Amino acid sequence: MPARVVFLGPPGTGKGTQAQRAAKRFGLVALSSGDTLRRQIRARTPIGVKAEEFVSSGALVPDEVITGVMLSAIDGAGGSGFILDGFPRTVPQAEALGRGLTERNSSIGVVLDFQMADETISRRIASRRVCSVCDSSYNVEFLPPRKPGVCDRCGGRLEQRVDDREDVVLTRLVTYRRQTAPLVEYYSHRGLLRAVDAAMAADDVESRVAAILESLDRR
Ligand code: AMP
Repeated sequence: MPARVVFLGPPGTGKGTQAQRAAKRFGLVALSSGDTLRRQIRARTPIGVKAEEFVSSGALVPDEVITGVMLSAIDGAGGSGFILDGFPRTVPQAEALGRGLTERNSSIGVVLDFQMADETISRRIASRRVCSVCDSSYNVEFLPPRKPGVCDRCGGRLEQRVDDREDVVLTRLVTYRRQTAPLVEYYSHRGLLRAVDAAMAADDVESRVAAILESLDRR
């Protein structure tokens, strides 16, 4: 069966970057809930309009909105293996995902828990920049683009996300601890959780993620 993976962890721990790398390496589709919402906000779709206020204030968009969006994204992957980056983020979302996959004769194979101290997260987010066109993520300190301010991949302009400003980051961290951290217990209970030390250099995190996904293949 193709790999069905969840990347769990606070914002700013490199889930998006690692999801892209692992997807490329293993032929999977990376499905980022944050990128999907930002695209919908830019395109002013009904979902984007509904989501904008939540996203810019660092709150979670309602469970039923994001669950519908992500199950459609999974359907869009057309049976390929996938990595869910940023979804689920609450226990009701995890339950709805489980039900949705069961209806599709599928299930989650592994959940990677990206772990990082809050001080490190705040520092990393402060220096994060994203492409205004293709959403690629950079870090001016740790993972800079080849040319300052310009996306390596598409040449788009790099900018700071509105929700990466300091006050909103604090809200997002509190939201994570309160609403998303219970998923660590939820998936650990089901024997699906693997820890990843996300404070390592990006290449080392990539190796750790690859080792976990390779061991999954052999099971
Ligand atoms: P991210 O790019 O993953 O940090 O997500 C950016 C923002 O999108 C979050 O702060 C939320 O407002 C919203 N969002 C992303 N994923 C979810 C989700 N699974 N549930 C609710 N809101 C989400």
